[in-house]
Amino acid sequence: MLRWSIATVTMGGTLEAKLAAAARAGFRAVEIFENDLTFFSGKPRDVRTRAQDLGLDIVALQPMRDFEGMPEPLRARNFERAQRKLDLMEELGADLLCICSNVHEDALGEVERAADDLGELADMAALRGYRIGYEAMAWGRHVKDWMQAWDIVRTADRPNLGLVLDSYHICVRNNPIAPIAELPADKIALVQIADAPAILMDPMSLSRHHRCFPGQGDYPLDDFIEATIKSGYRGPLSLEVFNDQFRGAPASAIALDGMRSLQAAGERLDARLMKAGIAPTQISTPLPKAPVISGIEFIEFVTSTAESPRLVALLQGMGFARVARHRSKDVDLYRQNDLNIVLNREQEGFAHSFYLVHGTSVSAMALRFDDPRRALERANALGAPTYHGRVGPGEAVIPAVAGVENSLIYYMSERPSGGGTPSNWDRDFVFVEERTPKGPLATIDHMSNVVRRSEFLSWVTFYKSVLGFVDEPQVELADPYGAFYSRVIGSPDKSVRIPINIGDGGATAAARFLETFGGGGVQQIAFSTSDLFSFVESARAAGVEFLSIPNNYYEDLGARYDLAPELIERMRELGVLYDRAKGGEFFHIYTKMFDERFFFEVVERRNYDLFGAANTPVRLAAQANELDAAACTRASFGG
Ligand code: MG
Repeated sequence: MLRWSIATVTMGGTLEAKLAAAARAGFRAVEIFENDLTFFSGKPRDVRTRAQDLGLDIVALQPMRDFEGMPEPLRARNFERAQRKLDLMEELGADLLCICSNVHEDALGEVERAADDLGELADMAALRGYRIGYEAMAWGRHVKDWMQAWDIVRTADRPNLGLVLDSYHICVRNNPIAPIAELPADKIALVQIADAPAILMDPMSLSRHHRCFPGQGDYPLDDFIEATIKSGYRGPLSLEVFNDQFRGAPASAIALDGMRSLQAAGERLDARLMKAGIAPTQISTPLPKAPVISGIEFIEFVTSTAESPRLVALLQGMGFARVARHRSKDVDLYRQNDLNIVLNREQEGFAHSFYLVHGTSVSAMALRFDDPRRALERANALGAPTYHGRVGPGEAVIPAVAGVENSLIYYMSERPSGGGTPSNWDRDFVFVEERTPKGPLATIDHMSNVVRRSEFLSWVTFYKSVLGFVDEPQVELADPYGAFYSRVIGSPDKSVRIPINIGDGGATAAARFLETFGGGGVQQIAFSTSDLFSFVESARAAGVEFLSIPNNYYEDLGARYDLAPELIERMRELGVLYDRAKGGEFFHIYTKMFDERFFFEVVERRNYDLFGAANTPVRLAAQANELDAAACTRASFGG
């Protein structure tokens, strides 16, 4: 039966915890990794009972290694070993034993020898009603590609011997995928699914440490899954992911991520099949359609009475004006043009708890959805429950789900056609000033998240499956104190763009942020403007402090680009950075950090679509200087 399965090796913890997590996330089948039994306190029969109680089928026992093509006496010993595996399967109630292609240095390479051994093993298994699956491992001694494994299986020609098709081994070897659709369905014993990043590394290390869930890496998994279904295969599709980060995380979180990524993969699969005139599999309950998101309606900061004047001064310096006051809460709305910033100084509830943990920081963003109700149903179906906050009499209920580090993502409707803002504002706020003051800033260009490395892929999956975001390739940049990784994810129309950053090493800006902030969150908000230079001049005059950029940067700029000396001089005076790509130009500037936690960027794009990554090391170095100087000041005061 076609259904989602997960290999126990994918999760960390005890076997009991893994089974429970798999069941809770909605899996109905598992592959048992034999190593997991080694650390299991009960008998294999107890695993069977436990799985049954949880509604899980054990679809396979694996792996059996170094089996086929061995010379005597190793061959005879292998058959004894296999007999014990079959005994174990009986206790587990599994009917499939997976054999990985032999990596042993004594292994013989002839197809006939391997076919003879696997055929004999299949006959042995047939006596007990079991099946054998044979999998080509990318680093097998002789058999590395699925086509070779298929040759052997075809030659052995036993009804209970089939192929295990593992997307990782197939994609890392660049094996052809389309011919999988031509395989006889009854010759596919099991389909295993794992994605991986397109990085150059030996296949074994990449497999052991970097396998990930569909959509988290770069492999053509949609093509792979579609090909297996087109063959007529209707057995389990099983996640088999070796990843140290995954095993270090709670099993429940990993199982949920796995199920989210599979549900999204199932949705894409059915869309592809329907396009090809094939009946959809409905392997998962169909999800409500992915939302169309048309922008960020507001960003909410939590702060305190004591800290808010500094943030207000910064916002006003950048052109925001206080236009409205909340009807029942200590909350103000700051606005310019279409940009809304909500400042929350409440002394209780969600905002205050968030403030106590993180200090003055971004606690929520509100996105505009084509159909917020449908979008929420999708979030719920993908294991992201609706958050309901405290609502005063007559106030608008804005539903939300939890985002990074339990910040909130509010679900708002689109702006009414013909302009204006959603009516929610009037229900909750009393306007005290002109409703839409003009200002130099036009849009939220992007908003970056910093997360722990262990959570990075989880957020990629969340944004892609729950919000329908798409991603751009991962880049690695030099931070003065270590490496820095960034991946940009956002709505397909690019009205919302979120670079997700992770920092390795204790002193990188991202790592310092995690420490100061007490976890991940929004580190940067970038606004766009049509005239950066006049924005900076007026903001400086209003007291906004910008990041100091070293002189050498401008010397280098003059050497790299044919820019007018007066322009470079002006950038130097103001602290403006510059990049150029594909004929477009990018001018941008950073404010100094607010309490070492977040900062604003203001950008002017001239036919330029990137993020000025070339300048990121300069920014990180300048921020490191700033943080070091702040640390020195604190130390000299004995703080
Ligand atoms: Mg495998």
